Amino acid sequence: MKKKILIIGGGFAGCAMAHQLNDKKYDITLVDKNNSLGAGVRTSFYGGHPYTFGPRHFLTFNKKVFNYLNKIVPMRLCGDHQFLTYVESDNEFYNYPLHYDDVKKMPDKKKIFKELNKKKKYFLKIQKILRTTG
Ligand SMILES: Cc1cc2nc3c(=O)[nH]c(=O)nc-3n(C[C@H](O)[C@H](O)[C@H](O)COP(=O)(O)OP(=O)(O)OC[C@H]3O[C@@H](n4cnc5c(N)ncnc54)[C@H](O)[C@@H]3O)c2cc1C
Repeated sequence: MKKKILIIGGGFAGCAMAHQLNDKKYDITLVDKNNSLGAGVRTSFYGGHPYTFGPRHFLTFNKKVFNYLNKIVPMRLCGDHQFLTYVESDNEFYNYPLHYDDVKKMPDKKKIFKELNKKKKYFLKIQKILRTTG
């Protein structure tokens, strides 16, 4: 008998999860409080024309994630762009999205690492759940 999985929320994260688990032949139910999927990355139609809402750039350092998504939605690489984020209190530019190694350069690194370590057990728990369902 197939394992039953309930996914709450049909945004990017929920849809990606449903897509990945579907490959594993689970019995999946996805629910959303709205009557359309996509949320922050949905497409609306007006006068028959599609209007996309949300991301323009997909930013990741993870090649596996890029390759997974690129198979579903072919993307154009923006190799000549550099994405940075400015932190006013540091008067410094860092990578966007922020990379773990950027934190090491920050004046508040001790405080930030302390906060990250507090959440570490939750990240590990989520990783463990994903491993057992995958
Ligand atoms: C204008 C704009 C531009 C952006 N540009 C970029 C970009 O260039 N690059 C980038 O990487 N990101 C960008 N983002 C961010 C990106 O769109 C979001 O990070 C992403 O869509 C979040 O996906 P999610 O699935 O985590 O959450 P959401 O998209 O918020 O989906 C959550 C879903 O859960 C549902 N839900 C919530 N509560 C309940 C409940 N109790 N029961 C049932 N359903 C529930 C909601 O209805 C929703 O459908 C942009 C966002 C916006 C708005």
